[in-house]
Amino acid sequence: MLNQLFINGTWQPPLVGKEIDVFNPYTEKVIHRAASAGDADVDKAVTAARQALPAWKKAGGKIRGRFLSAIARRLRECSEDLARLSSINNGKPLTEARADMTDAADCFSYYAEQAMALEDRQDSEVAIPDAAYHSHVRFEPVGVAALIVPWNFPMVTTSWKMAPALAAGCTVVLKPSEITPIVELELGRIASEVDLPPGVINIVTGLGHIVGAAMSSHPGVDKVSFTGSNSIGSRVMAAAAIGPKAISLELGGKSPIIVFGSSDVDLAVDLIMGGIFTNAGQMCSATSRLILEKSIAKHVLDRLAEAVCGLKLGDPLDPATTMGPLTTKAQYEKVKRYTNTGMADGLCKLNGVAKADELSCGWFISPTIFLDVPTESPLWREEIFGPILCVRTFESEEEAVALANDTEIGLVATIVSGDTKQARRVAEAVEAGHIWINSPQKIFVETSWGGFKASGIGRELGPWGLSAYLEVKHKTELRLRGDVTGRIET
Ligand code: NAD
Repeated sequence: MLNQLFINGTWQPPLVGKEIDVFNPYTEKVIHRAASAGDADVDKAVTAARQALPAWKKAGGKIRGRFLSAIARRLRECSEDLARLSSINNGKPLTEARADMTDAADCFSYYAEQAMALEDRQDSEVAIPDAAYHSHVRFEPVGVAALIVPWNFPMVTTSWKMAPALAAGCTVVLKPSEITPIVELELGRIASEVDLPPGVINIVTGLGHIVGAAMSSHPGVDKVSFTGSNSIGSRVMAAAAIGPKAISLELGGKSPIIVFGSSDVDLAVDLIMGGIFTNAGQMCSATSRLILEKSIAKHVLDRLAEAVCGLKLGDPLDPATTMGPLTTKAQYEKVKRYTNTGMADGLCKLNGVAKADELSCGWFISPTIFLDVPTESPLWREEIFGPILCVRTFESEEEAVALANDTEIGLVATIVSGDTKQARRVAEAVEAGHIWINSPQKIFVETSWGGFKASGIGRELGPWGLSAYLEVKHKTELRLRGDVTGRIET
């Protein structure tokens, strides 16, 4: 059913019958054709979600939590198949794709618990300083949520939206990226297997400017949650302004990793490598700007050159592969343009091995490290979304913080220092939504995710992720004479 849409609990062909090619970026071959939906399909999906909303909302958090647990269980049971599907379509090494499936299942398990807990705290009294009044707060689902996601972590970005939305009592219409739709379509199969009521999850594949645009402006949608680029995020926000609809935006990054002279060099090199070469650098959280203290620079760069030589580019399904190809030809060409700019500008490159040229197929880019990149260079300022690291050195903590904050976006940052006090001080000064101190990019579902500045609006994960799909209803009631109860019946 991978070339159909999942609407109202059934698989349906798109009304206009178009298809989109889906590629394997390692073989560069078409592996699948996904349905390319139109406005009328979006309308059907939104109608199904609206019809399912009252019963899903009324079902209560405990029942919704049981469904979420069942989805989490199925995700774990089929995780190996899903990981292979994702790896083949996305190009990420199988180990990384397996980690994505674990993240997705953990997210559904976490929001299963949150849904159950929500039922107990759905209504609560609010202390006010006037005994003449009752005051109660109640949490209700926002309504129908349109979820629009990118291609770099398809199942993860989807789970971070879908699980809290369903937990809150929203029904959803999901638009996977047209580049990597096949793994998320499996959620339709899982929804049927766990007997989720029809219309609670709808999945509409298709092009962004058609399906995504129709979802962002549809009058039947109450909330739009978008993850993707800043340029499209702005368009989605403009479309959602008519209504207006509630909105969450998870956008791009150009994040710093600051390495102080007191750092453990082995740890620093591990964190630099993981921060830029995981998923071939196609991460919103890529720490693509290395801000390195001069006193330690030579030592770190020598070790970094060795580590880059140790990367193994190849077939994502080969257990020995540590970096796969870029996911699309367009992304490959875009990243190539940035490396060409770096070369044309005469930027010094760290001596790594140009491994991509050795491969006979696949959209591979050699891991590349440019040194002393000017702060006005597009390489330093723009999100490249590929395995390209830009380096600058500093001599004082103030200089490091100023370099880190000299950007319009502020998604994440990593701080590496042997001096914990310094690391914590710098973490306070850096403008970013998630900061790792001497830590790999570990994301716990209990913590928050989202950016400062132009990196987005709102937060995902943790209780903040649930709040993004809840409305707060307050009831203030003047006590009638003789009324001694503290509760308002709901
Ligand atoms: P993109 O903005 O091109 O596309 C994202 C989604 O929006 C896709 O599903 C696409 O089809 C859809 N879309 C395209 N045009 C649309 C329109 N006019 N209206 C509505 N939807 C439309 O992004 P991408 O290339 O898929 O993903 C890469 C970007 O995502 C990077 O900038 C990356 O930083 C960002 N990202 C952010 C996070 C985060 O958590 N902050 C996570 C992952 C990726």
